[in-house]
Formats: sequence, C-alpha cells, structure tokens
Amino acid sequence: EKQIGTQMEQRKGRRLVLFPLPLQGHINPMLQLAGILHSKGFSITIIHTNFNSPNPSHYPNFTFHSIPDGLSETEASASDLVLLLKLLNAKCVDPFSDCLVKLLSDASEDLISCLISDAIFYFTRAVADTLKLPRIVLRTGGVSSFVVFAAFPLLRDRGYLPIQDSQLEKRVEELPPLKVKDLPVVNTDDPEAFYEIVAGLVNETKASSGVIWNSYEDLEQSALVTLRQEFPIPIFPIGSFHKYSSASSSSSLLTQDQSSISWLDNQAPKSVIYASFGSIAALNEAEFLEIAWGLANSKQPFLWVVRPGLVRGSEWLEPLPSGFLETLNGRGHIIKWAPQQDVLAHPALGAFWTHNGWNSTLESICEGVPMICMPCFGDQKVNSKYVSHVWKVGLQLESGVKREAIEKTIRRLMVEKEGEEIRDRISELKEKANLCLQQGGTSRESLDSLVTHISKLES
Ligand code: UDP
Repeated sequence: EKQIGTQMEQRKGRRLVLFPLPLQGHINPMLQLAGILHSKGFSITIIHTNFNSPNPSHYPNFTFHSIPDGLSETEASASDLVLLLKLLNAKCVDPFSDCLVKLLSDASEDLISCLISDAIFYFTRAVADTLKLPRIVLRTGGVSSFVVFAAFPLLRDRGYLPIQDSQLEKRVEELPPLKVKDLPVVNTDDPEAFYEIVAGLVNETKASSGVIWNSYEDLEQSALVTLRQEFPIPIFPIGSFHKYSSASSSSSLLTQDQSSISWLDNQAPKSVIYASFGSIAALNEAEFLEIAWGLANSKQPFLWVVRPGLVRGSEWLEPLPSGFLETLNGRGHIIKWAPQQDVLAHPALGAFWTHNGWNSTLESICEGVPMICMPCFGDQKVNSKYVSHVWKVGLQLESGVKREAIEKTIRRLMVEKEGEEIRDRISELKEKANLCLQQGGTSRESLDSLVTHISKLES
C-alpha cells in the first residue's frame, strides 16, 4: 500500500499528452485510455482537432487544447475516408507541432513524459523526434487485423492485392484462415493513398516507443505472438478499455437516445436483435430496405440504429414504406444513435447485427452477445472472419444483403441449436475478458508494465 502510494506520488507532476484521431471509433478508446492513465496518477492533456471535437466539459480532470485542422467544410464531410486521413496527416503537422512546442516550453506546466498518439496519425513520429519527445501509439483496431496491414507489402508482391474479383475465394496461405475477400479494402478515389496510409500506420508504429492495444491476450494470442516477433518494441494489450470504468458515454459525438433502454426493459430476456453499423459505414437505399424487411420478417423484436447519413442520398428514414413501424405493433424501435455499451449489457439483448468495427466487436464480446457480421470496409472484414471462423461467436451474413438471407441468419442464431453453441462460446470469451481485467490478469499486468514503462521514459 505504502509503496503504491509513493509511486503515485512520484507520478504526480507527470503529464501525458494524448492525440486522438477525430473519428468516433478512435475518440472513444483514446478518452477511455486517458481515464485509465489518470487513475494511475498521470496528468492528462488532450490535443484535438476542431473537427469532431470531444466535449471538454465532460472531462473536468483533463486539459484540452484545440488545434485548427485546416479542413474545409466539403473536406470534413466528404465520404472518402482515405482522402480524409491523408488530409489530416498533412494539414495537422504545423498546428500540432506548434501546440506541442508551446506545451513543452510552458514552465508552469508539469513535465511531459510522452506523447500518446493514435497510430493512424503517423505524421506525429517526425514531430516527436524533432522535439525529442518519446512517442507511444494507441492502435484502436485489433491485433489480428494489424498483422494483416503489416503484411501488405508481401500481399502486394504475391499478387493478392489489389484484390481481383476472380480471386475472392482464394485462400491467403500466409494468413490463415483469411481468403482474398477478407482482406481490408476501402472505397476510395485514390487507392494508392490507402497503401500509403497503411504503410505510415505500420512503419511509424514500428518506430514508436511502444504500442497500446484495446484488446486482450487470451483473445488475440496468436496475432500477438506474430506481432512480438515482427515488432521489437514493447506491446501492451491492456483491453478492454471500456470495462475499466462505467463512464462510457461521455465521448459520444452524437446524442445517445435513452429511449432504447426503456424500450428494452419491456422485452423478453435474450430476445432482441440490436442492429447498428457504426459511425461511418453507409448503405444504398436497396440494401437499407432489404435490412428493414429482413428484420420485420424475422419475427424477433429489434432495436435499430439508423444514423442520419446511413442511407446514401437520404436524410433519415424517408426510404421506409409509410406505416412500416406501425404494422409491427411495437416489435421494432428505430433510433438515430444508441447508448451502445448499455444496450449490449441489457438482459433483453439476444444478438448484435454489426459491421464489426473493432470497438463494436469488442463491446459485444465483453457482454457475451453473439453477432451477425456484415463488414463494410477496412479492418472490419478481418474482424468479421475472426468472429465467425476463429472465435466462432457469430455468423457471417452470406450472399449479400438480401431479406431471405437475413431472416435465415437471424433464425440460425436466435432459434436453432447452432445459435446455442455460439452463445455458449461467447459466454466463455466474456469470462476470459473479465479474468484478464482482474487483479493478476494479463490486461492488468500489461497496464502495470505500461505505467512502469512510461515512468522510465525521459524527454
Ligand atoms: N456507438 C454508439 N452508439 C451507436 C453506435 C455506435 O455509442 O448507436 C459507439 C460504439 O459503442 C463504439 C463506436 O461508437 O464505441 C463505434 O466504433 P466502431 O469501432 O465499432 O465502429 P466505427 O464507427 O469506427 O466504424
């Protein structure tokens, strides 16, 4: 006890500067990490872009500095993710480094131990090097998909990438159990820029003083073994971040509709399908309608997040036939944004129909909710393959977004024996995640070594 007290005392006056990528799936884990490290005695400064700024008033214990990101309105709202990431990595260089120089030279502030940057902000490596500030990165995706990103040069050499339609079913021998169709792709006008971003992510992670993962040892053991062989830097799988504390909703960019919870309160245990495809994925109108009819025809109650902008070319629910919800007699509830972690923890939840963003995947595992997988882009396809074929805690929606296939998959998961086995397996994974987080568990130990590692870094 006394020793721990003294260690905390030594860390007082030690400041960490955190720099989240301004996307929902990156802001959430970075601010959760900030909370975890604050509870270990560090002072926290967050540098963030004006674009998608978190709300400082939700975090009275942290200091916030906003930097101009230089994005025009069209750039900020463009649907080309690759373009956005490329622009952010170019336009933030000067404002970020100016801000950091100011912080470092402010004598009234605590000493800065290190920068913790989102790994996709790869430009921060050069800035930190110039300022002689140690840099640790947070990778907000899974380890298994990172191993795939790290293999991109090899996958290109061997002709797996760029993906050719005639090869989709071909096995990627070097990365079992992936097939070519599971490799990360992103819809973009500039495919070469996608490869540049992946190279930046991988190379500048390798050049960091350590990498923090929102994942846990027992879940991604074999990917962690590969990673440790290829990346001779300290690796800290301290996840799942959101389970360290219960304050989960403070970093939400959209208002979370609490009517979801009161609606769930009136549903039978394990009966509800929760459908949500995250903050970025978009659908065309035909897909949207197939989903609506698939849910309606499944006869199960459903809670569906239709984010404004989810359907390309529509504001919100206009493509739905009029009276669609009314005919379901309360069996369906549609909202714009959910308090997702509370929804997943609700006893009425039976399944999560997800796009397999890493946060959603991990949140589902931690609550023991089996998944229906409909990956859209990037690492989601790899996550989905691991969910359905490695951990076997979900089913992939096969043969496109078609109402019959949806109905069938929901039935397989919610009604048939196959679903029961899947449910048992995800309960086991949930247990393992809990054990990792307990005293002496691998996530806790990893967090302790992270804290020791940071305390030894000298700027
Ligand atoms: N989320 C939420 N409400 C919703 C849908 C999502 O709070 O209605 C949160 C979810 O809990 C997760 C994040 O938004 O933490 C989405 O991250 P993920 O990596 O799953 O997907 P992305 O949005 O990056 O595609």
